[in-house]
Amino acid sequence: MRIAVSKGRIMREALEVFARAGIAPKEDPSKSRQLILPCTEEGIELVVLRAADVPTYVALGAAELGVTGRDVLMETPVPGLYEPLDLGIARCRLIVAGPKGGEACLEQPRVRVATKYVRLAREFFAARGRQAVTIKLYGSMELAPLAGLSDCIVDLVETGRTLEANGLEPYATLTEISARVVVNKGAWKMRHDQIMPILARLQEAVETAGIEA
Ligand code: ATP
Ligand code: MG
Repeated sequence: MRIAVSKGRIMREALEVFARAGIAPKEDPSKSRQLILPCTEEGIELVVLRAADVPTYVALGAAELGVTGRDVLMETPVPGLYEPLDLGIARCRLIVAGPKGGEACLEQPRVRVATKYVRLAREFFAARGRQAVTIKLYGSMELAPLAGLSDCIVDLVETGRTLEANGLEPYATLTEISARVVVNKGAWKMRHDQIMPILARLQEAVETAGIEA
């Protein structure tokens, strides 16, 4: 059983949930450079990937299970996946933000939007009868309106501190985000007996987290 996990924040938080579910890598992943991490339980291994690569691995059956952000799953829907469980970790919001006091830009017929989430941004503005002229960026979105590249950004925020530090403010929320478990549809059928107990253990680990918090 191979579990693909989005590296970085999701990985760190997922390891805590996994630990409560009795799934633990033999070596400390923060110290190891290995991309395949065998677990203490025979037959389970973790593979560490970029967020957007997780659905690809799982959909094509190179991993049976995966953990990735709902933002990734929404922006690039991949057929061949079930999404049975919300881990409730890596919580944040996908928002439209821009310079303080600049919210009126949302009412313009055409809005220049810098984002990694081109599809979700277009859908959001289209639903409000506006056209998003999207500018695809891969990082430091906050810079775009400051540099005059765009009117606003669509990006993830957790605390809003980075926005605040750059003189930006949230204008609207597109959706709430957290990390989800995805399962390969073929494996769901063919390896039901192995996958169901793991999902049950993860579900229980999520519920215990809720009680502790
Ligand atoms: P990199 O930053 O290494 O270029 P990346 O941007 O793909 O890669 P992360 O920034 O670690 O990766 O984000 C991965 C996932 O973590 C996101 O898809 C999202 O689900 C979640 N995430 C990102 N930013 C936040 C945040 N501020 N708060 C909570 N979760 C977040
Ligand atoms: Mg990032």
